[in-house]
Amino acid sequence: MTTLSTAFPPGAPGIGWLATGSRFLWALPLLLSVAFTALVVSWAQDNDRLERMALRRTVIADALSLEAQLSSRLETETVKLRAAAVRLPAPGTDGSRRLAALPEVAAGLDRRWLSVIWLDVNGQIVGEARHDQRPGTQRSAQTEGITLHLVAPTSDERRPQTGQLIARYDPADLIKSRDFWWLAAQYQVQLVTGVDEVIVSTESTGHVAAGETYEMPFGAITDAKLRLTQRVRQPHWFTTLPVILMVGFLALIAAATVLLRRQMNQVATAEHAWRTEAAWRQSLEESALVGLRARDLQGRMLFANRTFCDIVGYTLAELMAQPPSVEEPTQSRNQASKLGVRSEGQETRWRHSDGRMLDVMVFESPLVDGIGQQVGWMGSIVDVTERKRLEELERRQREVLANHARLSTLGEVASTLAHELNQPLTSIVSYSAGIAKALERQPHLDPELVAAAQALSGHASQAGDIVHRIRARLARQDPVLESLHINSIVTHAVTLLQRDLKRAGINVTLDLDANLPRVCMDRIGIEQVISNLVRNAADAIAGTTTEKSITVRTGHSTQPPPGWVTVVVTDTGVGLGGKDIETLTEPFFSTKREGTGLGLAICRSILESHGGGLHAQDAPTAGAQFSFSLPTDTLTMEVN
Ligand code: ADP
Repeated sequence: MTTLSTAFPPGAPGIGWLATGSRFLWALPLLLSVAFTALVVSWAQDNDRLERMALRRTVIADALSLEAQLSSRLETETVKLRAAAVRLPAPGTDGSRRLAALPEVAAGLDRRWLSVIWLDVNGQIVGEARHDQRPGTQRSAQTEGITLHLVAPTSDERRPQTGQLIARYDPADLIKSRDFWWLAAQYQVQLVTGVDEVIVSTESTGHVAAGETYEMPFGAITDAKLRLTQRVRQPHWFTTLPVILMVGFLALIAAATVLLRRQMNQVATAEHAWRTEAAWRQSLEESALVGLRARDLQGRMLFANRTFCDIVGYTLAELMAQPPSVEEPTQSRNQASKLGVRSEGQETRWRHSDGRMLDVMVFESPLVDGIGQQVGWMGSIVDVTERKRLEELERRQREVLANHARLSTLGEVASTLAHELNQPLTSIVSYSAGIAKALERQPHLDPELVAAAQALSGHASQAGDIVHRIRARLARQDPVLESLHINSIVTHAVTLLQRDLKRAGINVTLDLDANLPRVCMDRIGIEQVISNLVRNAADAIAGTTTEKSITVRTGHSTQPPPGWVTVVVTDTGVGLGGKDIETLTEPFFSTKREGTGLGLAICRSILESHGGGLHAQDAPTAGAQFSFSLPTDTLTMEVN
């Protein structure tokens, strides 16, 4: 798994070594290439030197060989000329004919001699034989260039000096001989004088070969030199293909290095910016008072800052090891974000590692990668548990204060009412009782009227009792406890409400256990409790269209403490809607438009003053079920 924190740790060794550790590493390829090129160049130079030496040796060897062959050829011609000279007769008339008649002379002229001149001892020409006088010849005895000659004395050891024989020959004929074609193909061969004047050359005049040259004295001709010049010039080492390729390679490497350097500068700049940003981000993350977390699309944790770890009580490693989780609110946020709606903060509840619940605000937005693709969710989390606790505390305190204020006002109102109503109610009670008694004595009177007068008297009497009781409580007098049958209290309370219930179409069923023990109680208080519960049941039924019925059941308590007497009021109304007894009995809690929210609170207080308690639950079928238990007379006695 890749995490943001481990993928880009600011202190991690990155590509900074390129810019810092080896500052000039970028130049390494270039330096290596230069060294390699230098090696290749030195090799090429060395190779060139060796080749030149080998070439020079070859040229020298070829020159020596050519000089030897040419010398030997001239030597041969000289020997042949000498042979002809010794066979000459003594000088006389008709020298030319006699000279031409000599077979050695004729053979020489046919071979390469241009002409042969016979001189006497005084240097006078005795005769001359020319090559172009030979039958079937094609060569001319006249050549344009310089001609050379061979000299042989006509004398020998048997004859004294009588003259000499001179054979003229064309040196070009000598060096252009087909016998040396292989040399002529490679070299320009020249015979030059001591003052560097070209006697003859294998090339036309003016043409100079460019290659390696070698000159050596040509012994066969006095003061002449033989020069061999290579036709093809040996290329310089720096014009050889490897060197040219290497130079090209070097240029490319240099260009690549420049580009690399530029790229590396950009990378180094980007890395520096990234490191700065990462350091900034880390300090921001660490100093942030909100928790930050990043998760992938599957809900796996990618990253969390220290505050987040502190909020949930897990280390980053533990968070990352946890299986992916997608919270409900996150899913809806994800949907919202996918639709392009910016995520509003959502309140949710998380469990801390120590088990307690946390209230947190989660703000999430898409986490995108470098190419703008969503890879997860980035969330900032604010722990609002403490704030909510304080808010709740404050709300409760305000409520308590308000309730206190209302209760004290209520107390004042109650005491005023109790005080002011006491007298009129006492009068109403005595008058209504008088009227009821007077009516009872009248014959033939409408029984309904009598019943109404009796009910009026009963209600007035109950109202008077309640006012008395309130006055007693305000005066901090203990309630008057009597040993009574609970069934009679239930019957009396329901009877007083009977007319109202009938009018509302509510059927009341009394399911009273006749074998119950007496209960020590404040009659007016318990009657008030029962009539309150029945009235509430009637109000709850009023909002329904189903069967309207209330059942009041008395019996032995089935739950501990044993032996107590229980009263259960069950209705077919709207039910409690999940509200518990604590909520229902809070002073001023009411769901009715004109309710005071005090009825159940007063009931609970009355029952608790008897040592009992009030319970509420949803009825098994529909509606609500309120119940209370009271200790029996004997138990109360025992307790007292
Ligand atoms: P009030 O009757 O003035 O509203 P109470 O303290 O008697 O005050 O009742 C408080 C609230 O308890 C009622 O507003 C009602 O919401 C709820 N309640 C009481 N009895 C019942 C019942 N039998 N069924 C459903 N809700 C009830």
